[in-house]
Amino acid sequence: MIRRETKQREAIFNVLRRADSHPTADQVYGEVRKVIPNISKGTVYRNLKVLIEDGKISELNLNGTVSRYEGRLEDHYHFRCEKCGKVFDLDEPVNNELDDKIAKRTGFTVKYHQLEFRGICEKCK
Ligand SMILES: [Zn+2]
Ligand SMILES: [Zn+2]
Repeated sequence: MIRRETKQREAIFNVLRRADSHPTADQVYGEVRKVIPNISKGTVYRNLKVLIEDGKISELNLNGTVSRYEGRLEDHYHFRCEKCGKVFDLDEPVNNELDDKIAKRTGFTVKYHQLEFRGICEKCK
């Protein structure tokens, strides 16, 4: 039983490590099913949660859209195409000074910030 759980979690993790498309839970489910055809949607959702808790993947939840998942852990910015909805990673260093600035100004404890750029991607232009 434990071994099956581990195998399922590994398969989900591998999908996310390979993907650069920031898939939704449903898309992850579709990919994992190619490897483990009888896996249930509930199992995929549950394991995504565990992987987040274990700090192995991150969840992207921007502007009230469905959550997307990715295997990249370090902070980075994103660009979302308004036409095709694809989310791209940006090679722009995260400005951590901004967190300090906000913390100083407000007295709040700032853990991190997320930033999403919007526009039209190269393909959709
Ligand atoms: Zn596009
Ligand atoms: Zn990303």
